[in-house]
Amino acid sequence: MERWNITKSSDLYSVSEWSGGYFFIAENGDMVVVPEPGATERAVSIAEVARGIRERGFDMPVLLRIENILDAQITSLNETFRSAMAEQGYQGSFMGAYPIKVNQQQQVVEKITQFGSRYHHGLEAGSKAELIAAMGMMHDKKAVLICNGYKDEEFIDLGLYATKMGFTCILVVEMPDELPLIIERSKALNAKPILGIRIKLSAQAGGHWSESGGERSIFGLNTSQLIQAIDLLASAGMLDCLKLVHYHLGSQISNIREIRTAVYEACRVYAGLVKEGASLEYLDLGGGLAVDYDGSQSNFLSSRNYTLKEYCTDIVEAVMTSLETEEIPHPVIVTESGRALVAYYSILLFNILDVTRFHTEPLPLRLPEDCPAPLEYMHQALQDLTIRNIQEVLNDAIFYRDETRRLFQNGQISLRDRSLAEQLFWTTISEINRLAKELKNPNPELTDLDRVLSDFYYCNFSVFQSLPDSWAIGQLFPILPIHRLDEEPTRKGILADITCDCDGKIDQFIDKRGVRRYLPLHELRPYEEYILGVFLVGAYQETLGDLHNMLGDTNVVTISIQDKGEFEFVSEQEGDTVAEVLSYVQYDPKGLFVRFRETAEQAVRSGRISASERREIVAAYEAGLRGYTYFER
Ligand SMILES: *Cc1c(COP(=O)(O)O)cnc(C)c1O
Repeated sequence: MERWNITKSSDLYSVSEWSGGYFFIAENGDMVVVPEPGATERAVSIAEVARGIRERGFDMPVLLRIENILDAQITSLNETFRSAMAEQGYQGSFMGAYPIKVNQQQQVVEKITQFGSRYHHGLEAGSKAELIAAMGMMHDKKAVLICNGYKDEEFIDLGLYATKMGFTCILVVEMPDELPLIIERSKALNAKPILGIRIKLSAQAGGHWSESGGERSIFGLNTSQLIQAIDLLASAGMLDCLKLVHYHLGSQISNIREIRTAVYEACRVYAGLVKEGASLEYLDLGGGLAVDYDGSQSNFLSSRNYTLKEYCTDIVEAVMTSLETEEIPHPVIVTESGRALVAYYSILLFNILDVTRFHTEPLPLRLPEDCPAPLEYMHQALQDLTIRNIQEVLNDAIFYRDETRRLFQNGQISLRDRSLAEQLFWTTISEINRLAKELKNPNPELTDLDRVLSDFYYCNFSVFQSLPDSWAIGQLFPILPIHRLDEEPTRKGILADITCDCDGKIDQFIDKRGVRRYLPLHELRPYEEYILGVFLVGAYQETLGDLHNMLGDTNVVTISIQDKGEFEFVSEQEGDTVAEVLSYVQYDPKGLFVRFRETAEQAVRSGRISASERREIVAAYEAGLRGYTYFER
């Protein structure tokens, strides 16, 4: 047999397919990260970073951010649009606006404004709080600050103040009723607003998030509302304020055809509004640029059937061809890409706490004399098993297993017999699974046995807190060990988190063809930590997460990769303590502590514990309050 090697691991986990050029496996079996695609001489071992995190006293789980990746993603989006425009002779320009909701953490937004400044990369705010965050973080007057979402008077006033201060703050009308209020507030504050208008497209995209697009979408104006809006603006003498047309199809649009269709339709509306006298300058296509999480390059939900270059080229081409005949100047193309910008930049790292292995007890050489009939039949079926009667034996095994369970419930067979029946059953299933590998086209019931027979790997994290989309919408993420990749992963595992919820697990994994029902993993080694990484988790996961079982925010560590492939820890944010999480759900940790001390004092008074035991117990309680909510070493 050929020895296992890193090329095999890379292929097994599809690393080069989903890595975006940022991740690969080093000769020593460590997963490594590079600051920009192709910069292999600056590779940093993620396993080594994890050791560094441990040495600094931080516990797993840790969310690891690599700030260079954010920088590189901003560059790649802007440069790819620029070169697509240059190649096709586009007269306008590109401007990005990062939607804060995708990852609102101050550190993230701060870095985006910093790294994005050379491209005047702006921000998109969908609520008052996001606008307030954006106004505090932005300095660049040229970059766009796009205000989407429902707007009350306060929201509108803040936007108008931003415009007065010289920001390119664009108030996007999402609902017909917003416009009269915006006109009124502009007059009252003596401000000349920069307005956008969100349109409803009939084009609709497939996928989880498609509800944002289409004629039945919640947001945006339909054509008759558009005409009313134009008339209203004209009568207020403000038609020249309308500068931008906006739409948002939804997130993770995996099919490029849907993106193109929408651009064509939006351009028709854009041209129509220009004909109506609006002096438009910006065409804002919203988000939707997808991430190829599974590396399949398909229109599967966790993937995309296009490259960034195709995305940019197709958009530029569609805008040019549809506006050409109308002799309308090329607009500034704006996109509000969020997911594609931030997904690659974070990795969730966690350790494995324990494994329950699937294994079958060896069968006795002979069945007992007075063995109940169903056990005899099961035993016979196992002995008769060949590749030709696999399905028949599987059916028999399930039938007789159910039969023995029924007999057990009726008190007709003993506990010992039932245990033997389970043993027979699982041995049969394992044998069937082994044989089924030789079949060319095993049916789904047979392929599913891999999942049925997998081990449980107990993982130190919460799906609900750290990977909410995995739980809520079955989103797939690339998951693999960050070390030992030069060794063959001989086990098949399903991941169980540390919540006590049966939904707190991951049993679907990326695969080149469809979905894999187990994750190839290594045997644990005694006294050695085994760490898995969930990759591409920078978008949406952090703030959609919840406090299920009071498991709080994880530690966050940010590194920056230097010129020679060294790395620096640029920031460490401690995750929630138990006391913090308790206070989120309205407990008063100090009050709890006081009460607990009293309870302990009563125990002393009643002679259950000694005073010095009380001291120890109270100290342990206090340390617990200060501690991390996850499993600590
Ligand atoms: C959520 C959202 C986005 C971000 O979409 P991505 O697919 O993450 O790029 C952009 N614009 C609007 C209006 C949104 O609601």
